Amino acid sequence: MKVLIDEEQINSRVIELGRELAQEYQNRPLTIIGILAGSLVLLADLIRAIDVPHQVGVLQASSYRGKSTTPGELQVNLDYLPDLTDRDVLLVDDIFDTGKTMQTVLAQIQNQNPRSLKSAVLLWKEEASTVELKPDYHCFKIPEHFVVGYGLDFNNEYRHLPFIASLEGSDLA
Ligand code: 5GP
Ligand code: MG
Ligand code: MG
Repeated sequence: MKVLIDEEQINSRVIELGRELAQEYQNRPLTIIGILAGSLVLLADLIRAIDVPHQVGVLQASSYRGKSTTPGELQVNLDYLPDLTDRDVLLVDDIFDTGKTMQTVLAQIQNQNPRSLKSAVLLWKEEASTVELKPDYHCFKIPEHFVVGYGLDFNNEYRHLPFIASLEGSDLA
């Protein structure tokens, strides 16, 4: 395992993004929606860095299955989504890779008639994108390596690591 972004770098960037978002969304009916499970660590830190009143909700989307680093079919579960009508919605995910997850989920949230809709991610694999869409906010751009930590998993492990690391051959066994 090789550390790409350490705990200190993540913490200071998340605080900085939180301040930017607090300015952007002050006096607006903000709802932050985290995409489970990968966004859960970012979601917990980011909402505490956004010092304006806001609501929080989650939805679940997954395309990886078990010990795989290539995506399968995307499944989205909106059962726990709060009412987003006329809310300024910020959708938060761990990573923008091909962009398909974000594109699909944004389209589904748009159907709930939000007042506005934007996206924020911790990581952006800019070169991997297969869609026109870009994340509205991102913390770090990274190269096309499979990474774990700070919410991101491999086979549902490594999510607790406070840093972002890339996995090497022997870790993927
Ligand atoms: P996309 O739909 O943009 O291709 O992929 C987004 C989703 O794939 C993310 O929410 C994340 O769950 C997963 N993903 C993409 N790249 C990585 C990666 O490098 N590591 C991990 N752990 N998950 C990834
Ligand atoms: Mg995900
Ligand atoms: Mg995953």
